[in-house]
Amino acid sequence: GDTLCALEAQDIEAGYGGIVALHGVSLHVGAREIVTVIGPNGAGKTTLLRAISGLVPLRRGRVSLDGSDVTGQSTEALVRRGLVHVPERRQLFADLTVEENLRLGAYTRYRHEPEAVERDFERVLELFPILRERRRQRAGTLSGGEQQMLAIGRGLMSSARVLLLDEPSLGLAPLITRQIFDTIAQLRGQGIAVLLVEQNARQALRVVDRGYVLINGRIVLSGTAEELMASRLVQQVYLGAL
Ligand code: ATP
Repeated sequence: GDTLCALEAQDIEAGYGGIVALHGVSLHVGAREIVTVIGPNGAGKTTLLRAISGLVPLRRGRVSLDGSDVTGQSTEALVRRGLVHVPERRQLFADLTVEENLRLGAYTRYRHEPEAVERDFERVLELFPILRERRRQRAGTLSGGEQQMLAIGRGLMSSARVLLLDEPSLGLAPLITRQIFDTIAQLRGQGIAVLLVEQNARQALRVVDRGYVLINGRIVLSGTAEELMASRLVQQVYLGAL
């Protein structure tokens, strides 16, 4: 039968002053699906996530979660509905510990569902065992890869059902990127839908179900991970030839 999309964006237009960064972008992410948007520098990937999560106003288009229209809702309201954005520059509290950073991700939930918060805390430490080891360490002293894991973990602490990830591979060595992407792939089993924007097409396509190619604010191609990997256009984008 017809299953509702966890996230759907229809005909999104957004920009900054006179700049139009997105020209009518449409995409969807099914429940338990991992979907990537790949594209070169400046294609509009970050703007797309910011538009979906209410950080940049929509000039046109609609966003829906589980089939309900949430267009124009505040970022906080969207977080309460399970839409969580993990931004590119890891906005962690460098002087707080790993545990404190994780718990801050859940601060609005303690009053209403303290047991669920503890369950999620345990779940995050299982997903990222290194965070358990580093639990009492200040976030600012973590490696880049560990900080990225902490950023994702903090997002999961807000009871995320749809996770928006902005370039988790940024500045990381290939082996660490691979580890992080393998962990992202495990989120499928936790009932979380993921929209991942990436310049690192090869590594992203290794773990996602489907993807879209964004160039100059337009989706120019979409398909399964296999189809995209075989596409000449993707190989060109990946090689930086565009
Ligand atoms: P990158 O990987 O470099 O972050 P991106 O694909 O995420 O690239 P965006 O950051 O979304 O691309 O940028 C899309 C377009 O919008 C670019 O032309 C960029 O210069 C412009 N832009 C982004 N942020 C702003 C801003 N705050 N003010 C004005 N223009 C902006």
